[in-house]
Amino acid sequence: MKLRSVKELDKKYIVQSYGKYDLCLTEGRGCRVWDTEGNEYLDLLGGIAVNVLGHAHPRLSHAISEQAKKLIHVSNLYYIEEQAELAKLLSDLSPLEGAKAFFCNSGAEANEAAIKFARKHTGRHGIIAMKGSFHGRTMGSIAITGSHREKYQKPFEPVMPDVRFADYGDLKDLKDNISNDVAAVFVECIQGEGGIRMAGWDKEGTWEYLNGVRDLCSRNGALMVVDEVQTGNGRTGKFFACQHFGIKPDIITMAKGIAGGVPMGVTLVSADVANSIHPGDHASTFGGNPLACEASKAVVDTILEEGLMENAEKMGKYLMDGIKAISSKHVREVRGLGLMVGVELESQETAKKVKEKMQGRGFLLNVTSETVLRFVPPLIITQADIDSTVENLKEVLKDV
Ligand code: PLP
Repeated sequence: MKLRSVKELDKKYIVQSYGKYDLCLTEGRGCRVWDTEGNEYLDLLGGIAVNVLGHAHPRLSHAISEQAKKLIHVSNLYYIEEQAELAKLLSDLSPLEGAKAFFCNSGAEANEAAIKFARKHTGRHGIIAMKGSFHGRTMGSIAITGSHREKYQKPFEPVMPDVRFADYGDLKDLKDNISNDVAAVFVECIQGEGGIRMAGWDKEGTWEYLNGVRDLCSRNGALMVVDEVQTGNGRTGKFFACQHFGIKPDIITMAKGIAGGVPMGVTLVSADVANSIHPGDHASTFGGNPLACEASKAVVDTILEEGLMENAEKMGKYLMDGIKAISSKHVREVRGLGLMVGVELESQETAKKVKEKMQGRGFLLNVTSETVLRFVPPLIITQADIDSTVENLKEVLKDV
């Protein structure tokens, strides 16, 4: 089908809740994708930090097709072998004390579960989240989302009550807001949708901030929930971004790349929190079904066995160094960790133009937080792909 026909069907039959780019992708291999018109692109967006192994990775494709021949879905009323194996894998990788997993289907759902578990465990109802944060689009997760509240929250009010927002990176503000009615503090190590922002920005600042959040939570009996939906799965050079800062949260939420594109969300909780959760407290029909778990096991094994965290760290630095060396008057800041890189441009208009011109040259990326070009490519990206990205970005920045 040609793009024009897909657009006609989309307009007629799909709820128009997305602002879409003029592109319909039909096939992918590695970091490359092709559209309905036969054009080739380098995928620097990876489904927004989802396609960690790129497209059609043989290990992931094999795992999915073999599992599909065996058992796609069974109810969580039965024990699921693939789910138990994946939970052990994630628990062993996580910094949580005796981590146990709850499986669902998306980042928003992982955060919904975290809200419920934190309330049940502490017997409190308050939540503190950060200004500039993003945690999803369900009613609970928009209530704790601190960015673009006019757009994300206002039309859907009333949202879940008892949520307060603290300044991201400001320990004093958190200290002023936290009290003995707070069940949990939600924080991202790097705000993804918020514009690839890291609290305190320089590494030392972040170390101090996230450790300070941990400390304030412990002293006030609140749980520390780290949303690793975008930062997790090896993207920043460690499996969980919070491992850069040596902290042990009480809950970690994950989704996006955890099953390489097969829908999956995970709420990892410490053994202590898990002890408060009993049959009937929470559930998800599809959560952790055999197909998704087998896909996720293949993704996690591949990340570990093929050194993809090391590649993310190395290639991320190479990309940032390359962009920093461009020295364009349009660039305000280049920031990130591993393969989560943001390039802050001077204006919304410039960012939009750069994104479009890059797309015209065969490079897919997006703009977040109005002015920030976001690079979250597959973790398998090569130096040659980054060289051509930087070369083209240089020309585009000269052109706008
Ligand atoms: N949390 C973070 C940090 C995210 O970046 C996102 C999505 O961008 C979400 C939660 C929501 O995830 P989902 O769209 O899978 O519900």
